[in-house]
Amino acid sequence: AKTQGRSRVCCYQPSMQIEVERRLALESDLRRAIEDDRLSLHYQPQVDAYGVIVGAEALLRWEHETRGSVSPAEFIPLAEESNLIVELGEWVLREACRCLQALDAERLPRLSINISPRHFGESDFVTCIERAVGSSGIAPERLFLELTEGVLIDHLQGAVDKMRELKRIGVGLAIDDFGVGYSSLSYLRRLPLDELKIDRSFVQELDDPNDAAIVQTIIAISQHLALDVVAEGVETDDQLAFLSANGCERFQGFFFHRPLTFSALARVLPAPNYM
Ligand code: C2E
Ligand code: CA
Ligand code: CA
Ligand code: CA
Repeated sequence: AKTQGRSRVCCYQPSMQIEVERRLALESDLRRAIEDDRLSLHYQPQVDAYGVIVGAEALLRWEHETRGSVSPAEFIPLAEESNLIVELGEWVLREACRCLQALDAERLPRLSINISPRHFGESDFVTCIERAVGSSGIAPERLFLELTEGVLIDHLQGAVDKMRELKRIGVGLAIDDFGVGYSSLSYLRRLPLDELKIDRSFVQELDDPNDAAIVQTIIAISQHLALDVVAEGVETDDQLAFLSANGCERFQGFFFHRPLTFSALARVLPAPNYM
């Protein structure tokens, strides 16, 4: 009992304290990164079955002074615990609209951004989207918002109302990581949606008959509900073949393109038409 007690003291506590300190440091760094413009968006193209670019997803990147490129998987959850996520979300929104402004619809038909549940839950979220779209002058249907099932759990009717207002503005609405969370088929019918995104965790395990069946089901549901379906995390031609054979027509993954800087994106898009 004595050794146990001691090991608890020497291993547990210090590591917890280090973790707390690490998070505090990261949070204040992130706040500074927003102020100092150390964030950027990278853009991962989405393609059709012929490899033609039909859109892109904006993915946040943070160049940290000492730690190098910090993954959003690491700092988004942290930002979500504070109001930082709202600032971050507004920054992403503005930047995405600038990208759409810079690349006309023939070159980049549409761009998707990730919306955090907390940002979506803000009372002025819809106004914020309306203002960003309005002041940039882009066609609203070129901007897609990727929502996770998390936004629907707490307050479904409130979320549905907000989504209707967003559709009134004209932006596209997608459910991201579909099937990973608490997906309930019953709510899907009630949502004014345009698209479902199949999470890469399913695409990468297509050898597993359960995952293959889930993917087939998601594609079938989206066809029944007349929604677009995008498969993310496509890395191999086998995955592409399975997805295509089952009716998926939109793909995103390293097999086609990695997330690209803005200028690299502009280079892989069709040349601008100066006529
Ligand atoms: P997500 O929305 O599921 O985004 C797709 C992730 O899959 C991206 O990771 C992308 O780089 C990665 N990916 C794409 N194709 C492949 C592939 O073929 N193979 C593999 N292994 N990975 C692939 P990333 O950029 O690290 O982003 C991680 C997550 O962070 C995103 O997952 C999203 O939930 C969140 N995130 C990224 N940007 C933002 C943002 O601006 N706002 C918010 N709220 N969340 C963001
Ligand atoms: Ca996404
Ligand atoms: Ca995903
Ligand atoms: Ca599995």
